[in-house]
Amino acid sequence: MSDTTRPVVEISGLHKSFGSLQVLKGVDLQVRRGQVVCVIGPSGSGKSTLLRCVNLLEEPSSGSVVVNGVELTDPDCDIDAARVRIGMVFQSFNLFAHLSVLENLTVAQRKVLRRSKEQAEEVARRNLARVGLTDKEHSMPAQLSGGQQQRAAIARALSMDPEVMLFDEPTSALDPELVGDVLGVMRQLAEEGMTMLVVTHEMQFAREVADQVVFMDGGGIIEQGDPADVIGAPSHERTRTFLSRVL
Ligand code: ADP
Ligand code: MG
Repeated sequence: MSDTTRPVVEISGLHKSFGSLQVLKGVDLQVRRGQVVCVIGPSGSGKSTLLRCVNLLEEPSSGSVVVNGVELTDPDCDIDAARVRIGMVFQSFNLFAHLSVLENLTVAQRKVLRRSKEQAEEVARRNLARVGLTDKEHSMPAQLSGGQQQRAAIARALSMDPEVMLFDEPTSALDPELVGDVLGVMRQLAEEGMTMLVVTHEMQFAREVADQVVFMDGGGIIEQGDPADVIGAPSHERTRTFLSRVL
């Protein structure tokens, strides 16, 4: 049985280099069950690499990543099995263009979780309702707005019953008027108790929804804590400089 007191995500001493380029220089970070942790920081600071290391889309150079008590960095770990319950939503929407919205939501449920067509469709419809897309199940991705595509991508991830959801700047490719709907869905997930690790430039969202805000720069965590402190009253000069550019 899973240990409910243990953090869902435990990152320790994480280093990642690409050739001679050191991108992560020893990151320690935990996300507890039901917590929302927002990662902010300048472009190139390693935020996406950090998130990609959490589901081993990138292989860490050293350090450990434990999700749900399973050490993904253990060479004997069955990564595919461990990854099933880590939902990931990217900046680009990544829907399968040749499949309808409903099929996008059912394909992995059927192939990976071995759910029947009926079961998978029931779960898919429940999650489409959660993101406000009930009337779009027969649409093709190209027929949806960017905001609708991103909400469909979130519903697809939710249909795998994730223990944690990773979001990498989910609204930064959207037209400004579509950002609010996606943030609204994320806010609702947070209220429902979903464990979330979110890279975002939406400071208002981070301030209102995050339990913890992490400021990264140069491949490391410069400061982290309560959003009111990190965003409202940062203690480091680098955080202040970053915030003065984005706020
Ligand atoms: P952020 O998401 O904070 O903008 P990234 O994690 O995307 O930062 O990138 C951090 C640094 O790592 C950048 O200098 C980027 O060019 C480099 N980088 C990211 N992915 C790769 C890769 N696959 N190969 C080489 N360099 C990479
Ligand atoms: Mg990035």
